[in-house]
Amino acid sequence: MKNIFLLIFFILSAHFLMAQSNSSKANSSLRIEMLFPEGKSKALILSYDDGPDADRKLVKLMNDYGLKGTFHLNSNKLNTKGYLTSEEIKSLFKGHEVSVHTANHPGLSGLLKIDIVYEVVEDRKSLEKLTGNMVIGMAYPFGSYNDLVVETVNGLGIEYARTVADSYNFSIPSNFLKWDPSIHQFGKAYFKPNDAENDKKELASFYKLTDDFLKTTSLALFDVWGHSWENNGEGNRWVEMENFFKLVSKRNDINYTTQITLVDYINAYKNLKFSVDKNIVSNLSSIDVYIKIDDKTYKIPAGSQISI
Ligand SMILES: [Zn+2]
Repeated sequence: MKNIFLLIFFILSAHFLMAQSNSSKANSSLRIEMLFPEGKSKALILSYDDGPDADRKLVKLMNDYGLKGTFHLNSNKLNTKGYLTSEEIKSLFKGHEVSVHTANHPGLSGLLKIDIVYEVVEDRKSLEKLTGNMVIGMAYPFGSYNDLVVETVNGLGIEYARTVADSYNFSIPSNFLKWDPSIHQFGKAYFKPNDAENDKKELASFYKLTDDFLKTTSLALFDVWGHSWENNGEGNRWVEMENFFKLVSKRNDINYTTQITLVDYINAYKNLKFSVDKNIVSNLSSIDVYIKIDDKTYKIPAGSQISI
């Protein structure tokens, strides 16, 4: 009888030890973090609306500083006073993203479903014809949306839609169809006419957030939005714009990206496949994906599998 107890004790002990050694091999505690394209820890999106003719000056400035823009256009406004022409869209936005802002710029949350469909599909169709590219990004006119709008645009092939609700942070939105940007260009400076005190305060908070972004060592997405026509207002706003571009450009830790390129990248990251012990990672997408494990960066090339 004593021998039987001894045997059971040994079996249980062996079982316990095996479980211990297996758990030390299981990598459930291994923290895998996403990095941005090119293995960068920061990404910058510059998101501009409406397609006014001042976009010409803004694109030139972005090109001069090696920055990328995402431009949300209203196709039915092109060729009218103060807006871009259809003919220039393809060449002007080369290297940047052209995206939906609806055909006529109505507040979508006040529309019937059929009108939302028309506004989005019509804009997509026109912009795709002008650019020769797929147009699947969007910014809501006036930032106006509700559940019906989100559900409808989701069914129309739109991959992300930006709002105008500043988050004042650098996080990646959990729902791409309710994408709150970090901050409006220059915060809410110049929103009220002739309020120099408010302008000063808002500019200071804008540059504080910019500085926080440049200094952080955490994963950070800075998404700045605005309208190029705003820079034609009083004061030195174009000079201010260039100052901002000087601050954020040509930095090794920032990935300069369009919004749709980043969405594609994040989707590729989310679709990585891992073995149970996380020693094998497979990337079936056509995009190189970068991850960080214990401060070490790994590149998982497009369409390949690596051992970690
Ligand atoms: Zn707009």
